[in-house]
Order: sequence, then structure tokens, then C-alpha cells
Amino acid sequence: MEEEQLREIRKNLLKMREEVLLEAERAYAASQSLGKDGVPDIGDMSSNSYSQEVLMNLSETQRVRVRDIDAALDRMDKGVYDLCARCEEEIPSRRMEVRPFSRYCVDCKSEVEKFGE
Ligand SMILES: [Zn+2]
Repeated sequence: MEEEQLREIRKNLLKMREEVLLEAERAYAASQSLGKDGVPDIGDMSSNSYSQEVLMNLSETQRVRVRDIDAALDRMDKGVYDLCARCEEEIPSRRMEVRPFSRYCVDCKSEVEKFGE
């Protein structure tokens, strides 16, 4: 895969990740302000425990999404992003563009779906 294309996909993944976390943050702020006297007391918390709390507010779908994004970014760092996790063949970049979390080539994907990983 072209360096340029890889950079583009990474940018998109980071943006997606940010959007999911932002969504969770909003949900968290909303739940906080509903709780007590209508004022979220986010200022009292250390930023660390704040992001922990935010992460706990992620729905199952959002959690899976963040995990998939992190896994994809991790594969990028290791330089194996577009290599199939099963047969280690290069996955066509067209497929990675459409499905940026793909871990398998089309052939392996259908095998995995039939017989498990
Ligand atoms: Zn494969």
C-alpha cells in the first residue's frame, strides 16, 4: 500500500476514534448534569479519572469500535496493516479503504466466518 494512502487511512481512523470518544463524553456530561443540582462537576476530577469515567460510558458498540480502531492503528505501527492476519498476503488497498478494520483478505474472511479463527 502506498505511504500516502496509509497516512490518509490513519487520519480517518484517528478522526473516527475522536468522534466516538466525543460522543461518549457528551453522554457522560449529560448524565452528570442530570445527576445532582444540574451542574456537572467535571472540574473536580483529575483528567485521568475523567477519561476513565468517559470510557465507562461507552456503549458496547462504541467500545468495539474503539478497540477495532486501536487494533488497526497498532497494525499500522507494526507495518502489517494491510497484511492478512491468516495467510499474510497483502490485502488489496481497495478493500482496506472500504473496510479499514479488515484483518483478513476476502478468501480468509469467508473461511474464518465458516470455520472460526
Ligand atoms: Zn488471507
